[in-house]
Amino acid sequence: MHTKVVKFGGSSLADANQFVKVANIIKADESRRYVVPSAPGKRTPKDTKVTDMLYTCYDAAARGADFSEMFEAIVARYIDIVKGLGLNIEGRMMREFSTIRMSFMARAGRDYAASRGEYLNGLILAEYLGFSFVDAADVIFFGEDGKLRLKETCAAVRERLAHTGNAVIPGFYGSMPNDTVKTFSRGGSDITGSIVAAAVGADLYENWTDVSGFLVCDPRIVPDPEAIRVITYRELRELAYMGAGVLHEDAIFPVRQAGIPINIKNTNRPEDEGTMIVESAPDDISPYVVTGIAGRRGFVTVTIEKDMMNSELGFGRRVLEAFEDNGVSFEHMPSGIDTMSIIVHKDEFEARESQIISELKTSVQPDKIEIDRDVALLAVVGRGMKSQRGTAARIFAALAHAKVNVKMIDQGSSELNVIVGVTNEDFETSIKAVYDIFVTQRL
Ligand code: ASP
Repeated sequence: MHTKVVKFGGSSLADANQFVKVANIIKADESRRYVVPSAPGKRTPKDTKVTDMLYTCYDAAARGADFSEMFEAIVARYIDIVKGLGLNIEGRMMREFSTIRMSFMARAGRDYAASRGEYLNGLILAEYLGFSFVDAADVIFFGEDGKLRLKETCAAVRERLAHTGNAVIPGFYGSMPNDTVKTFSRGGSDITGSIVAAAVGADLYENWTDVSGFLVCDPRIVPDPEAIRVITYRELRELAYMGAGVLHEDAIFPVRQAGIPINIKNTNRPEDEGTMIVESAPDDISPYVVTGIAGRRGFVTVTIEKDMMNSELGFGRRVLEAFEDNGVSFEHMPSGIDTMSIIVHKDEFEARESQIISELKTSVQPDKIEIDRDVALLAVVGRGMKSQRGTAARIFAALAHAKVNVKMIDQGSSELNVIVGVTNEDFETSIKAVYDIFVTQRL
């Protein structure tokens, strides 16, 4: 029998209406056996996520302030859902709330507080679906160092679910060796879903959200961009690093290791195919050479110039040491015969600028150091670039046509991506130009 693990994000479970959609999706496919819910998210753009309400409320309780009103607002969100679904569990919910209130007063911790968002949503969803409820605290374990114990966790999840045909396991949290609750970082229900999928050896991990998968580029820059149908883990990593987010980064490891693909789907448009994230895919499966375009503003290029630099042994190491000693990690390092440029995040660099420059001056005695503070980076990513001649030519022709001056070029040796440095002002124009040539014109 096929098994899918399905995770639903906060906006998919924000109110009773969304719960109904979720239940329809689950019931439409009996292989959707294990469900991982987030806490109720925003119902409207200005709304507050329950997780944020819980943090604020707990902080007030921990200060000894009156938190009743905030607490009642959280209770109201859940009672609304319970009533909207016509469930007869108000009494049970009120008992849960009284336990949570007492734990807040006893300072049970911020992680415990935040985890209740998923816990309560899980209880309601299990009741509504008629599935078993498995508390994540009983099967997801962190070590003393606060890191996930993946092996023990997978064994516990597997054992617990071995004889449970259908279950709801709340996302985002687990337990510490002393039985206190600990959460993952924000957005961490994605990780729980991935762990459960790996543990039960699922055929597919479906991650349901409010967009139909990854888009080729940021919709705030190009209106209504195309969706990506298939993306490899490596391409995803390149794009995520450059700021394209939908999935928690740490969610990839457990399923990837187990060879399970992820499908990003839209709860509000279940008929859309969404994006498949896979280990490898044929180059020609995508209609475009390029899989995605992402980028970020706010970089600085530090160019160090020194005559005969190329013959000076250890020069590069000493340059990088000046950055390393000051805790600044570098992004790229294009070099010429007598120049070396280090690209770093502006904020990080400027906080340690004078120390780095003086260290550079003493350790490598450069002829000149130039600092360009106006750099944005663009990553053009695609597994198809390797087998396709002329991709770089098309990128640069598009940029030249859009009158963008290219400051830096770096092609990763995997031939999976081309990184281009432009001014902050040219950033959006560049993304539009590259999108236009590869996607709109399909060149
Ligand atoms: N509810 C948590 C958050 O808002 C975890 C999640 O949704 O994945 O970050």
